[in-house]
Amino acid sequence: MNASILVTGGAGFIGSAYVRTLLGPEGPSGLTGGAGAVTVLDNLTYAGSLTRLEAVRGHPDFTFVHGSVCDADLVGTLVAGHQQIVHFAAESHVDRSIEDGSGFTRTNVLGTQTLLDAALRHGVRTFLQVSTDEVYGSIPHGAATEESPLRPNSPYAASKAAADLIALAHHRTHGLDVRVTRCSNNFGPHQHPEKVIPRFLAALLSGESVPVYGDGLQVRDWLHIEDHVRGLELVRTAGRPGEIYNIGGGTSLTNLELTRRLLTLCGADPGRIAHVTDRKGHDRRYAVDHTKISAELGYRPGADFETSLADTARWYRHNRSWWQPLLAAR
Ligand code: NAD
Repeated sequence: MNASILVTGGAGFIGSAYVRTLLGPEGPSGLTGGAGAVTVLDNLTYAGSLTRLEAVRGHPDFTFVHGSVCDADLVGTLVAGHQQIVHFAAESHVDRSIEDGSGFTRTNVLGTQTLLDAALRHGVRTFLQVSTDEVYGSIPHGAATEESPLRPNSPYAASKAAADLIALAHHRTHGLDVRVTRCSNNFGPHQHPEKVIPRFLAALLSGESVPVYGDGLQVRDWLHIEDHVRGLELVRTAGRPGEIYNIGGGTSLTNLELTRRLLTLCGADPGRIAHVTDRKGHDRRYAVDHTKISAELGYRPGADFETSLADTARWYRHNRSWWQPLLAAR
């Protein structure tokens, strides 16, 4: 059934890919758009960019609203006109949260609370809270299931864990249909060059070295953005209220292995790796078990990692005019 959907943070990396998919025809196979009216609420921080939404700006079902999820009056007005909320808006960069966590608590925690209050007041049908595997913290072995304890280590991860718990409490206390997704590290085109893959690609394409934190043996699971979008749509359309769904990509690599692949894709030699002081509180290993979403909703990560990493590298090679100003503005 079509629904009017309020997408917060829809000018960001993942939110914009989601909106482009909802409004098709760019979407990955199996998703053909036609979701109904889609409104993006985004206050266009340094991480937000309308260029990511160019493909849909003329679409009759698309509306963009410039504003913050912390603005209760604006949020109330918007939520009153929508049946569903897909909540991406967040401060999302761990390193920034280590420098100053206050904006993370404001946007990620209080912004979520503001949306939930409005969702309750206006009888929103479904609230999809887009979260992260970082809430589980470092996993020495095995993989985190949805039942695993929350052990967030960075201020960013702690703010997301807080938001998840507040959202789920609104399900238990008020019966609001809240669904939470927790995904692993995303990659793909249009990602801000502060995040590791685009940051390293930008450095390598600019003839610079790449700063690898510590020994580079931290392990991450990589999820192509199209697989993430597909997982989110499965949860929005067929997930169960009050449930958490992990969304993994199925490719685990150390940061050093990832860096070597990026060097190869850019024709650069290993001498371009510069080991730098490790990030404070750096989680050693993330791993999510996505058995639940696979068994219940038929999710399978479809992207071949090597191919999609090569496609991503090609995109950054051919779209310097997109990322160079973002790097310069940092
Ligand atoms: P992003 O930083 O690219 O985009 C965030 C968007 O939110 C930006 O457009 C920004 O302008 C907007 N925003 C920030 N504060 C706002 C506010 N107060 N009001 C309205 N809009 C605001 O982030 P992303 O990588 O697209 O991540 C989206 C969501 O997915 C986040 O909630 C993040 O925690 C989660 N997530 C991301 C990853 C990843 O690998 N990128 C992994 C797991 C989870």
